Amino acid sequence: MSWDFGTDPALQEELDWIRRYVDEVILPLEVAGEGLNQKQLDALWQPHKDEVKARGFWAPHLPPEHGGGGKGQLALALIHEVLGRSVLAPEIFGCQAPDSGNAELLAVGATPAQRERWLEPLLAGRVRSTFALTEPHNSGSDPTGITTRCVRDGDHWVIDGHKWFASNASVSDFMILMAVTEPDAPPHRRAAMLVVPCRHPGVRLVRDVGTMHHPYAADEGALMDRIGGHTEVIFENCRVPLDHMIGSPGDGFVLAQKRLGGGRIHHAMRCIGQANRAFEMLLERAASRTTRGKLLGQQQLVQEMIAESCAELEMSRLLVLRAAWTMDREGAHGHAARRDIALVKFVVPRTLLGIIDRAMQVHGALGYTTDLPLEEMYRMARALRIADGADEVHKQTVARELLAGRKPVDVPTEHMPSLRRRARELFGERVARIREGRA
Ligand SMILES: Cc1cc2nc3c(=O)[nH]c(=O)nc-3n(C[C@H](O)[C@H](O)[C@H](O)COP(=O)(O)OP(=O)(O)OC[C@H]3O[C@@H](n4cnc5c(N)ncnc54)[C@H](O)[C@@H]3O)c2cc1C
Repeated sequence: MSWDFGTDPALQEELDWIRRYVDEVILPLEVAGEGLNQKQLDALWQPHKDEVKARGFWAPHLPPEHGGGGKGQLALALIHEVLGRSVLAPEIFGCQAPDSGNAELLAVGATPAQRERWLEPLLAGRVRSTFALTEPHNSGSDPTGITTRCVRDGDHWVIDGHKWFASNASVSDFMILMAVTEPDAPPHRRAAMLVVPCRHPGVRLVRDVGTMHHPYAADEGALMDRIGGHTEVIFENCRVPLDHMIGSPGDGFVLAQKRLGGGRIHHAMRCIGQANRAFEMLLERAASRTTRGKLLGQQQLVQEMIAESCAELEMSRLLVLRAAWTMDREGAHGHAARRDIALVKFVVPRTLLGIIDRAMQVHGALGYTTDLPLEEMYRMARALRIADGADEVHKQTVARELLAGRKPVDVPTEHMPSLRRRARELFGERVARIREGRA
């Protein structure tokens, strides 16, 4: 028997330290940074990053051979679950999106020279990065339809196109860009990935798009001066040397799969942490507020909210842990891991939104105010049903994986008349003897 729901004591000790650090240091640090720009924030955050590095917790998403402190996806799931309580914690622990996914991509796809140039500073936390795939005029759910072009001209690649939701591009050092190199190749061999500096001739950072998270009208020129923006970028005759391509022309989608699988499950892991935080707020309020002479927690409809939230959280958590366990056993690209990652990608944000919503509800008007973090948590969580692939796309993946290899049948396997016929063939005589008292 190898099923085990326990956590290794040494890892538990580390998780306990991380939990204390997140609650006692990082949550106040998040608030201390309100209104500061990225340069000021970096100065505020650096001593804490140094402390995390000294403790050996930095970059837990990468294995040691790629420069991280990783112990596999299952341990990472438990770490992310604690880090996910705070939106800042992944940054302080060197595993924030999109840098973490980009680092994974460079670790597996880049040449030694490219790794030295871009991965090492990224891992050390000296630079920031962006991932630019989605385009405003093409469906991100079918990235084989991107139209940003990359054409070779002597010893340079020349890029022309239009991207948006290139998260953090306004404060990043470089982006990993997907562009079409082979327009006539089969759909999944048309594109390549390139490293492009964010401030570079031919790269126009148009604006950080206003969103539910940052609800301001974002006209041209509106760029955020801190991480968290989603940038619209236009490439016009943008030239980068040939050695800026990761892999070869046409390799883009193979590389994207390596990047996106990990990124998706990391989001789900962090969602569990956010959902836990909201659930604790729900419980605290239910145990503190009275109405009609009774605590909220003694009202049956609130008890239902508590029980439903607990059940959804536990189910989602187990699903995430199983996905991580499967990745550790079979790698991220097997059928089982693909199905599990797609499952958690649409199930967990739904759980998170439901629990935040109930936590807001039991806080009444207070839950709707900015005196509590719930409203911001809700606005951020909503994006996760779209970012890194819309729910519908992941549901399609699950269904496709489950249907793969299924053979069509003329008659359903569970067809009762057929089963009765078979039963008669197998047991008819015996049943007849029993009926007639001859057995
Ligand atoms: C907060 C945030 C951060 C992001 N960060 C990045 C980033 O860093 N880099 C980057 O490149 N992109 C990023 N994105 C973009 C994201 O990956 C895309 O928005 C996503 O892939 C969906 O693409 P789309 O917006 O073009 O929607 P579309 O593809 O136009 O889809 C619209 C809707 O159609 C429905 N739909 C789509 N396909 C199907 C289907 N097969 N069956 C049924 N219904 C379907 C879904 O409801 C979907 O929401 C980010 C998005 C958000 C919200």
